Amino acid sequence: MGGLAVARAPEGRPCNGLTMTLATDALQRLREGNRRFVAGVSGRDALADQTRRNDFVAGQEPFAVILGCSDSRVPVEIVFDQGLGDLFVIRVAGNIVAPSQIGSVEFAAERFRTRLVVVLGHTRCGAIQATLEALQETNARRSRNLSSIVDRIRPSVEGLLATDLGRDPEALALEAVRANVRVSANHLRHGSEVLERLIGSDGLRVVGAEYSLETGVVEFFDE
Ligand SMILES: [Zn+2]
Repeated sequence: MGGLAVARAPEGRPCNGLTMTLATDALQRLREGNRRFVAGVSGRDALADQTRRNDFVAGQEPFAVILGCSDSRVPVEIVFDQGLGDLFVIRVAGNIVAPSQIGSVEFAAERFRTRLVVVLGHTRCGAIQATLEALQETNARRSRNLSSIVDRIRPSVEGLLATDLGRDPEALALEAVRANVRVSANHLRHGSEVLERLIGSDGLRVVGAEYSLETGVVEFFDE
């Protein structure tokens, strides 16, 4: 049970004064924004104007947390057609989940009562590709820091190499991206007592998604 029937205080405001957007409503806003992006009918200029800037000087109420990849082709606010103050974004190569990413999600979920967390992977992800290469050529040289990213992705994808996918590089890359998103989302769901509690009793949802470089469409998993 996702606890989606979380009680909204009268006027939609919980006790701490923040407006809480329910996870289902947040998901809907992301879907609609991505549809605008794909259709090329962005409302972004209005979402970043001076008035809007002034609105957020004193605080923020982001309606979703997005853990995405650093890839320059997947700028989160743009692909969801959102503006200032809308999204709490964490970007790291391969959208991996390390302690600092979990801490960032906890921060937003507790401080701003953000109730939707999306782990956003994407097709043709270089970090996933680097991991697949590392699994297939053991003597490649890579810095300790870069290895810390590859090592986080490795467990989600190495099992795939032993399947039929191991003989089909294109299909393997596609499935590896999705496997990594699923593992990251599960890690967020179960790797933090804070998030587990909010999921169990306060309407927090963690969903996986994939952005297609080819079409611009974001497909959500775990629905
Ligand atoms: Zn990537």
